[in-house]
Amino acid sequence: MCFAGVRDAHALLMNGAPAGDGVVRAITAVEDDPAYCSVGYGGLPDREGRVMTDAAFMDGAGLRMGAVMSAEGIKNPILAARLLCGRETNCLLAGHGAERFALENGLEMRSMLTDPSRARWLDALAEGRKKLTAYTGHDTVCVLALDREGRMAAGTSTSGLFMKDPGRVGDSPVIGSGFYCDDRYGAAAATGLGEDIMRGCLSYEIVSLMKRGASPRDACREAVEGLSRRKKELGEDGGSFSVIALAPDGRFGAATTLDLFPFAAGNDVSVALYCVDFSPAPVREARPTDLEGVD
Ligand code: ASP
Repeated sequence: MCFAGVRDAHALLMNGAPAGDGVVRAITAVEDDPAYCSVGYGGLPDREGRVMTDAAFMDGAGLRMGAVMSAEGIKNPILAARLLCGRETNCLLAGHGAERFALENGLEMRSMLTDPSRARWLDALAEGRKKLTAYTGHDTVCVLALDREGRMAAGTSTSGLFMKDPGRVGDSPVIGSGFYCDDRYGAAAATGLGEDIMRGCLSYEIVSLMKRGASPRDACREAVEGLSRRKKELGEDGGSFSVIALAPDGRFGAATTLDLFPFAAGNDVSVALYCVDFSPAPVREARPTDLEGVD
């Protein structure tokens, strides 16, 4: 979903931009593109046919975060989240408060419902209500960045679960669950069923595993397998979630409960698409898929 955005963010970072600028560049590219139907403009509507967005931004140098949740009509929710980051209080705003903040700070407002997203909603209404599941492939846009000065940042943006109840919020704007970033140890972010991800505080879990010496790949695997195993012990399915992580030295990793989870990453050498697959043990290494240059 994010290859083009990651490529643009990569170019910015290579030119010395701060990590936060890279995060915002990659995420706004996805939010603005109606082809990505689970983020920003053209996102998945809730039960009432409204596109309600969640987004978060975290600055790993200052250990500060900003987020909006259940917000309607903010063209780029990640910009509101970034503006909120750094405030000592009032840094996490919901609904009307988030929308008012965006307006007062000059952010662009627009209707986020496109004809295809409205058609999807009408089809789902006609089919009747089913169990809510995470979007196939897990499609919150999650971006982690490390800049030339060693600063790190993390961001997320999503319209959340399709046909969610009005006011439902998932993991994406919730610190420690959908995202976490601390320059000293690394950054992580998650996508998938927010209700599960929050039970495992997955992003904080990954960063704390890295703090104790795990590589990003091992930390992702251990956190995902741990929560999946626990759910099974409780008589549930193994869950539906995917995670990414980045270490302060530039190593990165991912893990998933899906069969396959693609993600994009760049470093001093290249920008490429990677794919990680899940099997109980051992999980194979993420590897380049030779798709460099393909959007
Ligand atoms: N994690 C998001 C949520 O639960 C959905 C997703 O990542 O697909 O709202």
